[in-house]
Formats: sequence, C-alpha cells, structure tokens
Amino acid sequence: MSDSGARPSLFERIATREIPARIVLETERVIAFHDIAPKAPVHVVVTPKAGDYRDVVELAAGDPGLLAELVAAAHEVADSLADGQFRLVFNTGPDAGQTVFHVHAHVLGGGLEETSLG
Ligand code: 5GP
Repeated sequence: MSDSGARPSLFERIATREIPARIVLETERVIAFHDIAPKAPVHVVVTPKAGDYRDVVELAAGDPGLLAELVAAAHEVADSLADGQFRLVFNTGPDAGQTVFHVHAHVLGGGLEETSLG
C-alpha cells in the first residue's frame, strides 16, 4: 500500500484489478502489463504491486531485492514476448518523462533497431 492516508496509485489500482489491464506476468510482489500507449511492438510496464517507492533511485536504496525481482520479471516478459531481447527504461523525474510516481520499468522490444537511445 501507499504511505498512510495516500490514495492508491494508478499501478496499485491495476494490481488490485480495480482498473483493468492486459496483465502478462504476476508474482508475489511484482506485476507486468501491456502499456496502454505502446511505444514499441512490445511495450510492457513492470512494477511492484505496492507503491512504496516513487522511482528507481528510491527503490534501489530501500529494497534492492525488489529491484532485482523487477529486472528478473522484465527478463521473463522479454523471453516470452520479445525473443529475450529488450530495452529496460526507468523514467526518473518529470523532466525525464515520468508521469506515474510509483516506480516502474518499461520493457521495450520486438524490433527496436530503427530507434535511437533517447
Ligand atoms: P512514465 O511516463 O511514468 O514512465 O510511464 C507511465 C506509463 O503508464 C506510460 O507509458 C503510460 O502510457 C502508461 N499508462 C498510463 N495509464 C495507463 C493505464 O491506465 N493502463 C496502462 N496499461 N498503462 C497506462
């Protein structure tokens, strides 16, 4: 859950099925679902079910094991949907394009050879 009194984040509401999403993987602490506005042939959001951390910097400091679980889930998603090849993006801060302040990784794959790194 979020901090006491805080409203559940969008991704917490997806994890509890309050908001529907095309879920592709779920573990005890992690959930992965197709992004609603895909930027690549495969574009999956991987996130902790609980919204305790705003971004990857907070997550790495607060629960590195959970960060490792996110990476493992991203790999598993890419194995099943993108031939095991993927780009992993953590937008961190509004100026970097972060819009949902519940840490999440974008798994991008399925043919990125024409895209640049940024
Ligand atoms: P950010 O911009 O914070 O790095 O990533 C948030 C992502 O969440 C965006 O790529 C956006 O398309 C996706 N998103 C926003 N609302 C929804 C939703 O209701 N369902 C799903 N599946 N993805 C969403």
